[in-house]
Amino acid sequence: MLDRPHPTPAAPTLDPFALAKALSGYHFVDGGYVPGRNGKTFAVVNPATGVEVARAAEGDADDVDMAVQAAARAQKEWAKVPARKRGALVHQCAALLKEHQEELARLIALETGKALRTESRVEAGVVADIFEFFGGLGSELKGESVPFAPNVLSVTVREPLGVVGAIIPWNVPMLLMALKVAPALVAGNTVVVKSAEEAPLAVMRICELMNRVLPPGCFNILSGFGPECGAPLVDHPKVRKVTFTGSVETGKIVARAAANKLVPVTLELGGKSPMIVFADCDFDKTVSGALTSMRFTRQGQSCTAASRIYVERPIFDRFVAAMKSAVDNMVMGDPLDEKTDIGTIVSEGQLEKVRGFIEEGRKTPGATAHVCSAMPNDPALKKGLFIQPVIFTGLTSDSRLVREEIFGPVTVIAPFDEAESVLAEANDSEYGLAASLWTNNLKVGLDLAHRLEAGLVQINQNLVVQANLSYGGVKSSGLGKEASLEAMLEHFTHKKTIMVNMG
Ligand code: ADP
Ligand code: MG
Repeated sequence: MLDRPHPTPAAPTLDPFALAKALSGYHFVDGGYVPGRNGKTFAVVNPATGVEVARAAEGDADDVDMAVQAAARAQKEWAKVPARKRGALVHQCAALLKEHQEELARLIALETGKALRTESRVEAGVVADIFEFFGGLGSELKGESVPFAPNVLSVTVREPLGVVGAIIPWNVPMLLMALKVAPALVAGNTVVVKSAEEAPLAVMRICELMNRVLPPGCFNILSGFGPECGAPLVDHPKVRKVTFTGSVETGKIVARAAANKLVPVTLELGGKSPMIVFADCDFDKTVSGALTSMRFTRQGQSCTAASRIYVERPIFDRFVAAMKSAVDNMVMGDPLDEKTDIGTIVSEGQLEKVRGFIEEGRKTPGATAHVCSAMPNDPALKKGLFIQPVIFTGLTSDSRLVREEIFGPVTVIAPFDEAESVLAEANDSEYGLAASLWTNNLKVGLDLAHRLEAGLVQINQNLVVQANLSYGGVKSSGLGKEASLEAMLEHFTHKKTIMVNMG
C-alpha cells in the first residue's frame, strides 16, 4: 500500500482543526485512505461557529462496490483466523483507541458540537471500552452438541455471516459504530460502515487506527449521503447483514431493502423514553438523574432521552423548580472549552426542527415553556447552533411534543396521581426503547418495570449503553439488541448444524 496517501499524523494530535483538514476528501478502504472516485465532496461544518472545517468525500455506488469487494476478499481470510486471536486483535485496537482518546474527543466535539468535558471525552472512553469488552468474547462463539443417535455426532457451530453493511447516525457516532463493528469483527465478519453526513471524521480516524492492527479490508468506511451511498450499501449483493441506527423512517426503508435480498437486519431507531418519578424518591438524586436522563449536556440528542417526565403530584411543583434551576446552572458555550456543559445542536436542519417543536409548544393553550440556561455571549460563537433548553409543563398527552421524538433539549413534565394511570400513559407511545422509574418502593418499581413496554428499564438510575447489557427497543424503536454477548451471537453469526454418521 506504499502508493496510498498518508494524510494524517501517526501520533495522537490535540489539534482537531488540522486533523479534520487532513482527513478531507477520503474514504478508508482496504487498509488505506482512498479519495472518492467521483471527486465530489461536501462540507463538514463546525456547528459552534458555522465555519467549514473539512470536506468529506461524497461516496456513491462505485465507492460502495470497491469497499464491499475489498471486505468480501478480506472476509475469507479473516474467518480463518482463530476466534480468540480475532478477539485479541480487537482488544489491541481498544488500547490504541485509549491512547487516542483525547484526540478523538476533540475531533468529535469539533464536528458535532458536543461539549468536550461532559460528552465527547466520555464517548471516546466508552468506545475503547466496547472494543475491549468484545475483544474478550472470541472464545464465546460456541455451538452445542445435540443428542440425535448414538452413532451420529450432531453439533452446531457459529459461523460469521460475511460482509456486514453498517449505517450510523451523528449523535454518538463513535459509540454506535463500535457497537456494530466490534462484535461483527470478533465473530469473523468484515465490515463496511457508511458514516453520517454530519459526522464523518472521528469515525474515519478510528477506522485508520484500527487498520494499524487489523488485516486490510476487514474494516472499511465510506462517507456520503443516505440515498447515494447508504442505499447502495444495503442493496449490494455481497452485503450479507445490515445493521442500522437512525430514524424510524429511514430504518423502515433500510429494512425493506434488506428484505428484498432476504438478509437479516438489526435496527436501533428512535425513542420517547418516559421517566416516572414517585413522591417517595430520593429527591436530589432524582433531579440530577433527570438532567442526565434527558441528556441535556448533549442538547437532548439521544434516542434514550427522558423526554417525557411524569412526576407524582405532591412533589410536582418542587421538582419542576429544582430541575429548572439545575439546568439554569449549566453553561452553554464553545464545545472545546473545558468550562462548557452544553454545546450546540449538530446542524441547521436539526435546529429548525427543534425550534418548530418549541414554537408549537409555546402556542399550545395552557402550556408553559420554562426556558433554561443562557445563550453564550462570545462573539466568535454568534453563528453557532445554540439553543436554550426548554422544560414544558401544561401539555396534554395528545401534544406532538409528548408523542414525537424531538431529538433536542426539550422535555415535557406532567403530574400523575396513581401508578396505573401513569403506566398507561407511559405505554401509550409508538416507541419502546427505554424507561426509568424513581422510587424507594421497590415493590411498586419492580411491578411497573415488568409492565413497561421498553427494551431497557432502570430503577433509580438511567445510565447510557453499557458493555455486556443488551440494548435495543421494542415497537417502533427497533429490532434486535446490541452491546452484549447475546447480541453478537444472535446478530452477527448463524448456526450451522453438522452431523457425522459414524455407524
Ligand atoms: P437523520 O434524520 O438524523 O438524518 P437518518 O435516519 O436519516 O437520521 O440517518 C441515519 C443514517 O442513515 C445516516 O448515515 C444517513 O445517511 C443514512 N441514510 C439516510 N437515508 C438512507 C437510505 N435511504 N438508505 C440507507 N441509509 C440512509
Ligand atoms: Mg436523514
